[in-house]
Amino acid sequence: MKQKVYIDFDGVIWDSFPVFYNIIREYNYALYERIINKIATKEDNDEVGEILRKYDWKDIFSKSKPIEGSIEGLEELINCNDFEIAILTHCNSHNEVKWKIKTINKYIPGIKLIPVFKPTSKSIAVDPRGAVLIDDYSKNLIEWKNAGGISIKFSSSNNINKDFYSIKSLLQAKDTVKKIITSNEINLAFDNIYAEEEV
Ligand SMILES: [Mg+2]
Repeated sequence: MKQKVYIDFDGVIWDSFPVFYNIIREYNYALYERIINKIATKEDNDEVGEILRKYDWKDIFSKSKPIEGSIEGLEELINCNDFEIAILTHCNSHNEVKWKIKTINKYIPGIKLIPVFKPTSKSIAVDPRGAVLIDDYSKNLIEWKNAGGISIKFSSSNNINKDFYSIKSLLQAKDTVKKIITSNEINLAFDNIYAEEEV
């Protein structure tokens, strides 16, 4: 069976956040300030969800582009044939799902996209056990790891989060996943040897 690898969309494959911030700033400046200062409350996040739910994603995509290296990185993951790849993305509306599928298929025809409607957790939407999740949002990664998955943090900054494996570009994804899987297999083999010795 192929190793399952799930990849987040916003902030990992697609550079959506600058457009999100512009929309929120125009809509509610105080809310925008709380978001960028990272002091947003749960109510603020719900309001962002409400704003994005009403928005036409055709417009968001016309103003944004893929993150550098993401399409090439995805192609490497797909072409090496060792992995079962799917995009796992939180969505606020059916319009968002439709345009995400349409847009990414222009770059990578046939790629699977699994939408997860908020507030459902990504680790509930699919079976995380033994599967890899590459995501930029730590909350998703914590839930994934706690449910038995392998979490890889995508971050372009130099702040290393010691709780997770990390990559700065999807161009590092294929080698990083292979390294993790190989080291997990070695650990498992050692565990089995010890288990046999104890008998
Ligand atoms: Mg994201």
